[in-house]
Amino acid sequence: MAQNDTKKVILITGASSGIGEVTARHLALRGHRTVLGARRTDRLEKLAADIRAKGGSTEYRALDVTNLKDTNAFADFAQEKYGRVDVIINNAGVMPLSPLHELKIDEWNRMIDVNIRGVLHGIAAVLPRMREQKSGHIINLSSIGGHQVWPTCAVYSGTKFAVIAISEGLRLENTDVRVTVITPGVVESELADTISDASTREAMKEFRKVALSPDAIASGIAYAIDQPSDVDVNEIIVRPTAGAQ
Ligand code: NDP
Repeated sequence: MAQNDTKKVILITGASSGIGEVTARHLALRGHRTVLGARRTDRLEKLAADIRAKGGSTEYRALDVTNLKDTNAFADFAQEKYGRVDVIINNAGVMPLSPLHELKIDEWNRMIDVNIRGVLHGIAAVLPRMREQKSGHIINLSSIGGHQVWPTCAVYSGTKFAVIAISEGLRLENTDVRVTVITPGVVESELADTISDASTREAMKEFRKVALSPDAIASGIAYAIDQPSDVDVNEIIVRPTAGAQ
């Protein structure tokens, strides 16, 4: 029978706020050893202190997921601190929504760099060691925008459709590695703060009125991790009851 090692070494990108931060707390307090990455290390420092004060085990390191070298160093750091890497949660993401005709090309590129390249860098940083150890779990954050497109969401949705396609290919190619897509609907976080287009920002306020607490997503992630090693939860969609979003 497949074993379920309960104490895992779990890397989390984008752990400095929102879903990443809450997931880090949730998993650390369930006894997992978490390794936190993001650019705002002041936030990570406070989060790590808080987790340790509550008896959890955690380490953190500055991470820019758009940089492959940095992402590799993040995985090496986890291996050095805890001796192995069991799970990566490719959570870092940005969402500067706008209509395409606004031609906010720098923002399109930023979404491609963080939401697609960042996920690929996370995969590249752990896949060789997971194939070698014949176990591992790669969890990628998509979005309900990875199934459905709304006006202003074209590029963001494109990046999140890509996360689903990449995850599916990864799963089919690697029979020793579990792959899970986490697909949140609207969740309270700092994500909408990256929107620079004034009318889109205003419209988002209405759209986000039914936002879920990030705890709902953290619980879904913990559920996927906690399954026995021969059970791969392929996708979890978590949306507010009160709305299509
Ligand atoms: P937040 O804005 O609160 O968190 C985003 C995180 O990504 C931050 O910790 C930020 O850290 C990090 N990040 C951004 N750019 C980089 C980078 N270049 N390198 C490393 N880290 C980076 O948003 P959420 O918690 O909501 O977002 C988490 C994920 O969930 C995203 O992938 C998002 O697309 C997805 N999602 C969110 C939904 C929502 O409604 N909230 C709905 C559907 C999906 P820092 O700035 O310190 O680097």
